Amino acid sequence: MTSHQSIALALRARLEALTHRVDDLEAELRQPLDADFEEQAVDLQDDEAIAALENAGRGEIARIRAALARLDDWTYGTCVTCGDSIAPARLAAVPTAMQCAGCAGATKSHRA
Ligand SMILES: [Zn+2]
Repeated sequence: MTSHQSIALALRARLEALTHRVDDLEAELRQPLDADFEEQAVDLQDDEAIAALENAGRGEIARIRAALARLDDWTYGTCVTCGDSIAPARLAAVPTAMQCAGCAGATKSHRA
């Protein structure tokens, strides 16, 4: 198995786990509010926390899907900004990275 194949397998497994988790969170958000007012307040706070988790999950799902598409068309591991290859150590740490460390750092400091 090539390293790209093992990365794809790991990403697919993570994608599946995340999809289940986001589904669970969504089901929880759809639950009706408790009749008791204090319980309602707690529910609403929980809902906000759950919605934040759901959003984070969806963001990661989108990044994983993009990484899988890049694996399919053989652009995985190539920086989308400068076209250099992304260091294997960086991909090991951040499998969904689309930029090399240099460009990712430049983007960050540019934004700051
Ligand atoms: Zn780059």
